[in-house]
Amino acid sequence: MEFIDLKTQRSILGSKIDNAVLNVINHGQFILGPEVSQLEEALSKFTQSKHVITCANGTDALVMVLLAWGIGPGDAVIVPSFTFVATAEAVCLTGATPVFVDVKEDYNIDTEALPEAVKTAEACGLKPKAIIPVDLFGLPADYEKIKKFAHPLELKVLADAAQSMGAELEGRRVGTLADATTTSFFPAKPLGCYGDGGAIFTDDDELADSLRSIRLHGKGRDKYDNVRVGLNSRLDTIQAAILLQKLTIFEDEIEKRQRVADFYFDNLPSSITLPQISDTKKSVFAQFTVRLDERDLAAQGLSKNNIPNQVYYKTPLHRQTAYKTYPQSVAECKMSEKLSADVLSLPMHPYLSDEDQALIANVFKTMFS
Ligand SMILES: *Cc1c(COP(=O)(O)O)cnc(C)c1O
Repeated sequence: MEFIDLKTQRSILGSKIDNAVLNVINHGQFILGPEVSQLEEALSKFTQSKHVITCANGTDALVMVLLAWGIGPGDAVIVPSFTFVATAEAVCLTGATPVFVDVKEDYNIDTEALPEAVKTAEACGLKPKAIIPVDLFGLPADYEKIKKFAHPLELKVLADAAQSMGAELEGRRVGTLADATTTSFFPAKPLGCYGDGGAIFTDDDELADSLRSIRLHGKGRDKYDNVRVGLNSRLDTIQAAILLQKLTIFEDEIEKRQRVADFYFDNLPSSITLPQISDTKKSVFAQFTVRLDERDLAAQGLSKNNIPNQVYYKTPLHRQTAYKTYPQSVAECKMSEKLSADVLSLPMHPYLSDEDQALIANVFKTMFS
């Protein structure tokens, strides 16, 4: 059994992927070749976002938006403590300071804690500039509430959708829910390539222009006319060609993920806490993450039965060596700490067989009866 099965998808796409890669090798436009703009158009159609700017990875995508907004030293950016490190790392790389805020039981940023985070930033002499909600495990954050709080204070909202490509809030797809949205095509993400890749989504024309410049060394008329400090951050044409093929089966894969999730919801014992998905949202279940008191014992029990499992994330960012000196919004991020101690992610991918699903449910039933 695989935790995330990329081999089945590979065999389904088969020669389509081979031909797509071969075609790039033959036409030879490895950097910003035609497949890159084709993919940007396809993703624009898929998300309904006006602009899509692909780049080298999901971390650069975050850095690029912060740079384009002019965020840097002396500025504060509010980020959840319970997330993958890249969310906060991107803030630090611009010279700005992350202010950690707690999350709720649905794993996403606690909107009620935002006012306190702004106060904390100001008490540190920092100017709050933006909030980065994370769609953790594939579930969109509460963007309407976040924007309602952020926009009157002139705070930008940057959605870290590295885990939630294809997810929805009130019928709208991720990519259109914030001032800008970033994603990652790291192989294990819901829409992954065969290496590193990322993209930025926005309806803002000016931001899109800046981002196209930033990804190419701050180009003006061309890359030898440098109007700002930028990065070298393009999506390889080969990766774009692979993603174009994967996108053709992505909707079907999202449905299949939902079917696996539905099985888990119906068959896992009631003594464990299942993901909380409000009925205005559609998750893509980048991870199916449950909570249990005896997490480490349960993990051992699953492993003994050859059921792969992972803990995302064992340490909240405000406790990490590199980040513990940065301000925390409230003295502690209590829920983030609790989650780090009791979350466990189960196998989740579109091709998890009925037999494997049944085995997982049975092992849980045996452990918890
Ligand atoms: C994977 C991930 C990133 C970074 O993406 P990369 O493409 O690996 O740089 C950022 N934020 C979150 C929440 C992620 O899960």
